[in-house]
Amino acid sequence: SKRIVIVGGVGGGASAAARARRLDEKAKITMFEKGPNVSFSNCSLPYNLSGVIPDADSIVLKTPEQFKAQYNIDAQVNKEVIGANTAEKTVQVRDVKTDLLEEVPYDELILSPGAKPIMPKQISGIDNKNVFSIRNVVDIKQLQSYLTENKVQDVAVIGGGFIGLEVGENLTLAGKNVSVIEAAEHVLGTVDDDFAQIVQKHLYDNGVNVIVNDGLAKISDQEVELASGKKIPAQVVVMAIGVKPDTTLATKIGCKLGETGSILVDQHYETTVPDVYAVGDAIELTQRQTCQKSRLALAFPAQMEARDAVDHIYGRKVDNQGFIGTQVIHLFDINVASTGLTEKACRENNIEYRFATVIPKNRVSIMPDTTPIFLKLVFGYPSGEILGAQVIGHSQIDKQIDVLATMITMHGRVSDLTHLELAYSPWFSTAKNAVNMVGLVAENILNDEYRQVPVTKVRELVEKNAFIIDAREPNEYQAGHITTSVNIPLSQFRDRLDEIPTTEPVYIHCQSSQRSYNMVRALDNLGYKNITNISGSYGELCEYE
Ligand code: FAD
Repeated sequence: SKRIVIVGGVGGGASAAARARRLDEKAKITMFEKGPNVSFSNCSLPYNLSGVIPDADSIVLKTPEQFKAQYNIDAQVNKEVIGANTAEKTVQVRDVKTDLLEEVPYDELILSPGAKPIMPKQISGIDNKNVFSIRNVVDIKQLQSYLTENKVQDVAVIGGGFIGLEVGENLTLAGKNVSVIEAAEHVLGTVDDDFAQIVQKHLYDNGVNVIVNDGLAKISDQEVELASGKKIPAQVVVMAIGVKPDTTLATKIGCKLGETGSILVDQHYETTVPDVYAVGDAIELTQRQTCQKSRLALAFPAQMEARDAVDHIYGRKVDNQGFIGTQVIHLFDINVASTGLTEKACRENNIEYRFATVIPKNRVSIMPDTTPIFLKLVFGYPSGEILGAQVIGHSQIDKQIDVLATMITMHGRVSDLTHLELAYSPWFSTAKNAVNMVGLVAENILNDEYRQVPVTKVRELVEKNAFIIDAREPNEYQAGHITTSVNIPLSQFRDRLDEIPTTEPVYIHCQSSQRSYNMVRALDNLGYKNITNISGSYGELCEYE
């Protein structure tokens, strides 16, 4: 019978083991994990900090005993694979507790060692005992005890990616004063600046001190110092500036690394060493739309790759298709999701694109708890191929992102969205789903039916003293408006046409860019040649309602 040895017992490792058992009841499957737990939910770790998941031990989904009893899989914890003789096909395993070594034979070796948090050695204080990173259950328990034993009040989370933000959210919910420090111009690199502003505003409103464009320079007991010289109180620092693939073992046994420094694999997840496969956070993947070599540290790809690698071992047809990168995050009262390419990614890859933003309600407006959905679609120009999407809302916006991720995977076009039949009743959405609406707007943009500028250009327009019309009602205008804007509501403009210039460019905005869009279309229709919609929301500028 086949001997399958797996290195790493969590995301990819546990999936590979389970798949191998399903395909081969006779195989001898051994999974080595250097930590004390296999099969835990890494993604749930931050939720223990707030008590949403009260018991850290419950994050472990399956014990070695359960693996043995249910699947006849030999899951060994505290066992580190430190090398391999790939000619003899054996691995060397070290017992982490006793230091004893053992040699274990394999026919097929699957590496799923994951990725390690980046801890830049040059930062003074990085090795201090008040500096943490989060990768496993042990890390979360250590952080929890340190916070309690030292009565910590102020925490600096370094890095505004999804792990940093989830940690920041949960520590805030636990009553800590949290600063999230991000070196880039905004948090969440998976969305564009305009959408990141909504996220940052929401974090501020919930008490998180978000600092962008500034990096960590120095850590001491009570504070961190930033590159700008700014000092932030912090008795604990959580490092979340990203992860780097754990290639220690792979390199040692002769597997080649790719241009991103992660393990190079082929179409079937086989490394450059025969019968050695690699999956998960440690491997190099291709971004499907740009064909760029890249990395992706997400749970679903790790599990899917593990299944594919095992399928290939058993002679099934598999296809390493790379990824488009679909993700979703919950932060206090909002959900933020993205898939495919952002505007920024299009620009970096010289892809000609356009975008459409809509801000409809999540359900029919007279229903209870109706909230806005911010949905941005990025599409190829002039092809209309759907390239990417970003969604923010209080509601279950994963529906919209998943539909759009599916469309990207199927090479869908803007025109496919307009007639897409999606489930509707007033509880669930508006009759035209946000996905249909953004398709319709995108189609108009593709057909050059009207002009638009993004909401992020407003500052520039104000500085240029451009003529900006605020199409909202007077009471909304009085409650707050762009300083230089003129209030001509949609409900009044037909009687006030003489106030709208015909010789200089005119920009129109409102709360969700729907009323402004209607006014733009009407003025275009009346023969105005100089009218541009400001796509996005007044809410994005100052207030996320
Ligand atoms: P891992 O699951 O990290 O497993 C690798 C294991 O290999 C480790 O336990 C390590 O100890 C072990 N190992 C390494 N080298 C050896 C060796 N030589 N011998 C023995 N054992 C070894 N993804 C999402 O899609 N959505 C989320 O919401 C999400 N949230 C996350 C939150 C946090 C805090 C973290 C840390 C990750 C999150 N992820 C999320 C990412 C996701 O968990 C990973 O992409 C996924 O677990 C990768 O699987 P993997 O098998 O490659 O690595």
